Amino acid sequence: MSLDHRLIELLVCPVCKGPLQLRRDAEQRPLDLACPADRLAFPIRDGIPVMLEHEAQSLDGPAPEPTEAASST
Ligand SMILES: [Zn+2]
Repeated sequence: MSLDHRLIELLVCPVCKGPLQLRRDAEQRPLDLACPADRLAFPIRDGIPVMLEHEAQSLDGPAPEPTEAASST
C-alpha cells in the first residue's frame, strides 16, 4: 500500500478528464490506472502514476457495456 488512495481519486484521465480505475495485480499491488472510456491504461512505475498518453497501453478484452448510451427507440 505505498500508493496513497486519495492521490488516485484526484487523478483523472489526461485525454478525456474522466475517472480512472486503479487496477491491481494478483498480489494487490497497484498495476495501472485504466480509463474505461478511452480503453487506455496508464502505467504505475515505482508507485508513481505515469499520466502520459503516449505511455498508455490499450486495454485488451471485450469493451464494457456503455452505460450512458441508453437506447430509447
Ligand atoms: Zn480517458
